[in-house]
Amino acid sequence: MQKKILLIEDEKNIARFIELELMHERFIVTTCYDGRDGLEKALEETFDCLLIDVMLPGLNGVEVCRRVRAKSDVPIILLTARDAIMDRVAGLDAGADDYIVKPFAIEELLARIRSILRRVNKSETKEELIQVRELIIDTASYEVTFEGKKLELTKTEYDLLKLLCENKNRVCTRELILESVWGYQSEVETNVVDVYIRHLRTKLKTEKSPYIETVRGVGYVVRE
Ligand code: CA
Repeated sequence: MQKKILLIEDEKNIARFIELELMHERFIVTTCYDGRDGLEKALEETFDCLLIDVMLPGLNGVEVCRRVRAKSDVPIILLTARDAIMDRVAGLDAGADDYIVKPFAIEELLARIRSILRRVNKSETKEELIQVRELIIDTASYEVTFEGKKLELTKTEYDLLKLLCENKNRVCTRELILESVWGYQSEVETNVVDVYIRHLRTKLKTEKSPYIETVRGVGYVVRE
């Protein structure tokens, strides 16, 4: 089935270029040129993935992302400017699953979209219960319980936590995490992993020792 993508990008020539490339790859593309229109569209229709530029008239991309995420788990990729590191962190904090820095090669954007869509498909197929200490992940229902309470996680947070728990007592390197959760194959300069670990830690606050341990210079581990 053809996948539907919502593109929110105010620069018309860039929008048109991305649109054509995506259509060429057999995606169905809807384009909005303004943050408010984009938000409205994202909430009224169902898409497989959203591509949101950060610098937008009406409502900026980070805010669009935050408001969409409050209501939906749809995968979101932000398009950010080269120097705007703050935008990227803010975007990830607002619930974006990934970002790509402008100007980007269209192949790179397509690769990111494919990997994000693969992740969605992949996690729909397995069914099992994973338990590590006070945390239980029900992969059939996507429900995560921590210290007896239900946790609200975004899709990416869920994938990351699941990976760490599937590999309990084994250190997951940042490279492994990037490849498994975000689908990157090459070394990409990105801090998505650290930002997402921070999200999870905030949600996994506990009186006991920290749930996710940092192994300095290597990666992260969850121990039984
Ligand atoms: Ca823009």
